[in-house]
Amino acid sequence: MDNGTPKYKRIILKVTGEVFAGPQQFGIDGKTVKAFAQEIKEVKELGCELALVIGGGNIFRGALASEMGMDRASADTMGMLATVINSLALQDALEKLGVSTRVLSALEMRQVAEPYIRRRATRHLEKGRVVIFAGGTGNPYFTTDTTASLRAMEVGAEVILKATKVEGVYDADPVKYEGAKKFEELTYIEVLNRELKVMDSTAISLCMDNRLPIIVFNIMEKGNIKRVVTGESIGTLVSGGKR
Ligand code: UDP
Repeated sequence: MDNGTPKYKRIILKVTGEVFAGPQQFGIDGKTVKAFAQEIKEVKELGCELALVIGGGNIFRGALASEMGMDRASADTMGMLATVINSLALQDALEKLGVSTRVLSALEMRQVAEPYIRRRATRHLEKGRVVIFAGGTGNPYFTTDTTASLRAMEVGAEVILKATKVEGVYDADPVKYEGAKKFEELTYIEVLNRELKVMDSTAISLCMDNRLPIIVFNIMEKGNIKRVVTGESIGTLVSGGKR
């Protein structure tokens, strides 16, 4: 239950870039980013160490551009740059609220962000800074879901909180099918075998091999990040076994 104490000490929160578009279909909605930053600030004040991985889907997705004929590696690089844009937007919003942050980019661009160095990331976390991992893994053909899994292993996070626009993982798309059933819990294997849309299979496999739990939850409802961080049973838990 929520007694205001975080259940986890070190957390990775993965947020799709789409959330940043707010009511728009594309780009960055300032009001939405500001509200999101406010929630992050409140969660940080609970006393946990928090690292964020922000996607880039509100600006550019490599796979889509590649379908339209663009070279996949180049298109993915554009996607990774989109995540840097989002990360800088969030950093600005957080710092305006007095939250100390560091953006660490997997693509080196020293004028705008620190390069990603694992030991530096853990040091920032220990010092209580919110760390934002930008530039994905730095490699094409990956996603920011895989980035979240990889970084979670690297910095020793206890859980990945995967923010989505629906309540959790369903057996069918809840936006299209009224009768879609939400799962309370799933195992990694169930997610892979049923091809459920949680995270891509590379990300899930990495979590499975390292037994890192994932909680999929709805970020559109105000206060939900805090709820999940304090251990309220919301969303869907993906793990090796029972809750
Ligand atoms: N991307 C990549 N390598 C990575 C992470 C991301 O090439 O390690 C590219 C890829 O083109 C992807 C885009 O960046 O489509 C944006 O990331 P993602 O699709 O994961 O964003 P989200 O859906 O979470 O907004």
